[in-house]
Amino acid sequence: MALRVGVIGGGQLARMMIAPAVELGLDLRVLAEEEGMAASLAATAVGDYRDAATVLAFARDVDVVTFDHEHVPQDVLAALVEAGVIVRPGPDPLRYAQDKLLMRARLHELGMPQPEWAAVSNADELQGFLDTHGGRAVVKTPRGGYDGKGVRVVSAGTEADDWFTALAEDARGGALLAEELVDFSRELAQQVARRPSGQMRAYPVVETVQRDGVCAEVIAPAPHGAGRLSQVASRIGLGIAEGLDVTGMLAVELFETTDERLLVNELAMRPHNSGHWTQDGAVTSQFEQHLRAVLDLPLGDPEPSAAWSVMVNILGGPETDSLDQRFAAVMEAYPAAKVHTYGKAPRPGRKVGHVTAVGEELDEVAYEARAAASFFED
Ligand code: ADP
Repeated sequence: MALRVGVIGGGQLARMMIAPAVELGLDLRVLAEEEGMAASLAATAVGDYRDAATVLAFARDVDVVTFDHEHVPQDVLAALVEAGVIVRPGPDPLRYAQDKLLMRARLHELGMPQPEWAAVSNADELQGFLDTHGGRAVVKTPRGGYDGKGVRVVSAGTEADDWFTALAEDARGGALLAEELVDFSRELAQQVARRPSGQMRAYPVVETVQRDGVCAEVIAPAPHGAGRLSQVASRIGLGIAEGLDVTGMLAVELFETTDERLLVNELAMRPHNSGHWTQDGAVTSQFEQHLRAVLDLPLGDPEPSAAWSVMVNILGGPETDSLDQRFAAVMEAYPAAKVHTYGKAPRPGRKVGHVTAVGEELDEVAYEARAAASFFED
């Protein structure tokens, strides 16, 4: 009987596991938040991932449970483990992808390079951090942020008062994360796959370009990254995967500072936007690799299959617009570009698909991907 993988969360990451699951002969089940989500092509149950009974019922007849996002609460994860369900990545490593304060403390213990940081509980403490860090800092809500929501640059201790108030009302309590405002020349991402047995493979480090807090573009491998940069980045990625006992795909977002250091920004323990290029530009895509890793099957080759890959995200335009109407024109104009769409309604600013181009000349590849993606936007 085919091995069964249960994915919690029905977004585009679960959707993009479907094709490799079919190729590998796996049976993929998805627990989606609602009907008609991006992953509804797979055998899909609909239910609340915060409800232990719902998740337990979903997990009952799969061989391993994995994730499209990291928001499943720890008590639900604990109930799964208690019931004998195999959960990968497990609750312990996931804790560090769920809470940025826990992550900073653990990475400190592991000796990983990161921005200077502190936990701050009120405006006075934040002001104290500002006073010792040049008067400006980045404040983050430890839990629940994504795409730049929950990240704010401040220059006065009172500028996060609304978040302190919200925390005081949250039963879990806690503090905010204050970080030095890093002077970076670019952002990078290092992906690593790790099996429960300990086997690991590192993908080449990539450059990620963000606009308005959202990943806009990825260049793989990172230009001028051969040699020391890629060695340091992969050592960081492998060290974190091992140190936190991650299973499946790990993405480590990094800052390259103007004085050429690499600092860890944040972690994702699942396939990640920075790795979408691997579908068309690497021997083994991150989605196939994640399935192999969580099933403890031998990992695939992460090497690029061409010199350059450029991935450009497609963001939604006005609600009424349909991607499908523009498909034919893009296919006609850019036959070498690979278009991936997520079956999502194109609300403004929402990631609804991406385009990847691969080839030997970076300028040509980047032009192809950007031009094709821009066809979809207004
Ligand atoms: P999210 O969880 O929303 O992805 P991140 O922690 O990745 O939040 O921050 C979003 C963006 O904000 C980063 O990609 C980076 O551009 C900027 N940023 C985050 N932390 C810092 C920092 N300490 N210094 C400078 N810029 C930062």
